Amino acid sequence: MVVATPIGNLGDLSRRALELLASADAVYCEDTRHSRTLFSAHNFSSKGRLHALHEHNEASQCEEIVRRVEGGQVVVLISDAGTPGISDPGVRVVAAVAAAGLRVSTAPGPSAVVAALSISGLPTERFCMEGFVPRKAGERQALYDLWAKEERTVVFYESPQRVQQTMSELSRRFPERRVVLGRELTKLHEEILRGSVAEVSASLASRDMLGECVVVLEGAAPTSAPDADAVEAALRDQLGRGASVRDAVNEVVAALGVVHRETYELALRLRSESAN
Ligand code: SAM
Repeated sequence: MVVATPIGNLGDLSRRALELLASADAVYCEDTRHSRTLFSAHNFSSKGRLHALHEHNEASQCEEIVRRVEGGQVVVLISDAGTPGISDPGVRVVAAVAAAGLRVSTAPGPSAVVAALSISGLPTERFCMEGFVPRKAGERQALYDLWAKEERTVVFYESPQRVQQTMSELSRRFPERRVVLGRELTKLHEEILRGSVAEVSASLASRDMLGECVVVLEGAAPTSAPDADAVEAALRDQLGRGASVRDAVNEVVAALGVVHRETYELALRLRSESAN
């Protein structure tokens, strides 16, 4: 069972999660000391039931977990906070148990990504979760290049030490886009900053940042699709210059940002028309 635990406020632990934690044969967690505090807060015995599972031993723990589930044990997977597997260990265990033909179920609950999205007021029909933004400057810039065209709402996690720099970089790239920064969500010092990227970045500039942060960034404005005549004209031009269908399609797809498959079909049609 993949069980979500609070991202701050202990009252967010569901009744089902509590029952599972109380009764599971084994509970795998990131940090046994951290989870023991959760167990003690609810007077659950952790003796012999808490096992560490983190990114360094996840692969080796998979076998043991599969064996336990096969033997009929109730095995619970939790992380330090939120939902396991979401920028946290758990993915390999889930894949291993599923691959062994065993059932993986969930007691869903808190996750900073969904919590932040739900209070962002930004479009949520389609969004992409980027996890933590990379630390290397070059990799961050490459990611921002992708976000320049990303029309879905973007969510990412960031540490308090780096959030000011990241927001300042974003304000150089996307100053007008709306952004919501959730800090310490569900906790005593919860703070939600809203505005344009330039405004939120400026408001962080002179502050000491503490606490956990999640950022929801508005996607790029949709680009209007080029009209069909323009695509056809560009293809005719390429084919007229003697380009192969493949080269003509690649040129037009790159230049106009149109869908490859449809452009290819059109190019084939134009070529066969000109051959007749
Ligand atoms: N598995 C977790 C989840 O489902 O949200 C995320 C784990 S990830 C290692 C931890 C990061 O999530 C933090 O560094 C922070 O960016 C974000 N986060 C977790 N709790 C938060 C909170 N209460 N407020 C804002 N961000 C939070």
